Amino acid sequence: MATEKSAVFIIFGGSGDLAHRKLYPAMYSLYKTGVLKDHFAVIGTARRPWSDDYYRSTVIDSLKDFDNDEKAMEDFSKHFFYQSHDVNDSDHYIALKKLASKLDDQFDTGHNRVYYMAIAPRFFGTVAEHINSEGLKTDGYNRLVIEKPFGRSYDSALELNNSLTKTFSESEIYRMDHYLGKYMVQQLTQIRLKNKQFEKSLNKKYISNIQVTLSESLGVEDRGGYYETAGVLRDMVQNHIMQIIGAVAMDEPAKLDSESIHEVKRDVFDSLQDLTPEEVDQNFVRGQYDEDITGSKKAYRDEDNVDPKSNIETFVAGKILLDSERWENVPFYVRSGKRMPAKSSRIDIVYNDSATELGLNPNTTVTFLIEPENGSSILVNGIDYQESNQSLIKFPEKPNYFDHEREAYESLMIDILDGNKIHFTLWDELQNAWKYVDVIRNQWDNETPDFPNYMSNTMGPDAASELLERDGNSWTWDD
Ligand code: NAD
Repeated sequence: MATEKSAVFIIFGGSGDLAHRKLYPAMYSLYKTGVLKDHFAVIGTARRPWSDDYYRSTVIDSLKDFDNDEKAMEDFSKHFFYQSHDVNDSDHYIALKKLASKLDDQFDTGHNRVYYMAIAPRFFGTVAEHINSEGLKTDGYNRLVIEKPFGRSYDSALELNNSLTKTFSESEIYRMDHYLGKYMVQQLTQIRLKNKQFEKSLNKKYISNIQVTLSESLGVEDRGGYYETAGVLRDMVQNHIMQIIGAVAMDEPAKLDSESIHEVKRDVFDSLQDLTPEEVDQNFVRGQYDEDITGSKKAYRDEDNVDPKSNIETFVAGKILLDSERWENVPFYVRSGKRMPAKSSRIDIVYNDSATELGLNPNTTVTFLIEPENGSSILVNGIDYQESNQSLIKFPEKPNYFDHEREAYESLMIDILDGNKIHFTLWDELQNAWKYVDVIRNQWDNETPDFPNYMSNTMGPDAASELLERDGNSWTWDD
């Protein structure tokens, strides 16, 4: 039976896309399992002058794809309140404070607050500063949840962090990386700790290389405007891919708690090998999608709200090295792109010839499938050896989630209410990831790429395969 949690949530950007597509359905799941029950309230704030009733009807609409229990949805929506709000107007924060305090009493929430930034990143600092100056923080807990992107370079991330830490301590800041909420990413740590032989095999002696792929079959769809300011390096590598590398490469933590896990993760980020501009050219490949072979899919440059001469990358592949005893000279090949042949998030751990000492065939590959399907496999030359290799890894049950994003948000929301930061990004990790990615970005910004350079529905530019071939390796997942 779930333990009930109490809090007032203040969602800045309560009328927006993220709130309706991710947050409300995730909170509703928590409501149905009893994590949220009688002692919670949600204040949605946004610019539009909505009534509580209208706001509640939009919340109910956001749930209809997931459930048809009208009574439960109606009851859930009664916990929602709307406050029209302009981020720069001090009076609005005072009104918000009064409403939150009234709801504290009405729902007996223990003065706990979750401030959720579901608004444009340029407002994060302003909102945090007003929470401070208008005295919204309470004597319960005060947790600030920040969505991506957290800055667009090390300097801007530092500036943002400095503005947040005037009001919230690092322990109160929850930086979302929804990949860390995904089932198989969370299982990875558990599997490592429960399978000592597997844990012992994760080092340069047995591992040839590790591959992280986060591919999408879609293009930018209606997010061209945003994508033009980001590109895949900032959108996927700096955060999600780096965090996955952290989870695979970290040493065994002393305990399974947030502090111990972040301690060993921090070491991974500290050990990212510095890149020279020449190494960026050698070890990183960028691409931008063209039409598909039939011409039925648009090139990136023809998408809505995209500059017809845009040099924004929609594909990246790279080789990352860590300066550590454990991973010396073991390449971490990473890859992410839009308009690839399939959506696939996966980690492939490729063993070398010494794998025979572990009773494995040479070149065994252990794969963690993150999505669309959850699961894992042990492949030797493409043949699934999972059954015969149970001694190496015991795999967990595989729940088959139909909606990974929703499941990730649900799990992270529980962590926020529990005050558990295991699956959130800490500033130390983030700043090192930005410093690393900035070097690549700066080098790329100095040179004009020859875009577009890969057809839609393909595995990206040829250079992405050549990157591995040079080292005598190849991508495990190839179309
Ligand atoms: P959105 O444009 O749909 O919603 C923005 C919200 O902010 C609206 O409620 C709007 O009324 C409010 N707002 C805008 N200007 C305001 C102002 N001056 N004062 C008060 N409120 C104001 O955006 P979104 O897609 O929901 O994204 C919200 C945040 O979440 C962004 O930081 C985005 O980067 C991040 N994010 C979104 C997604 C997603 O799937 N939508 C995924 C990851 C991260």
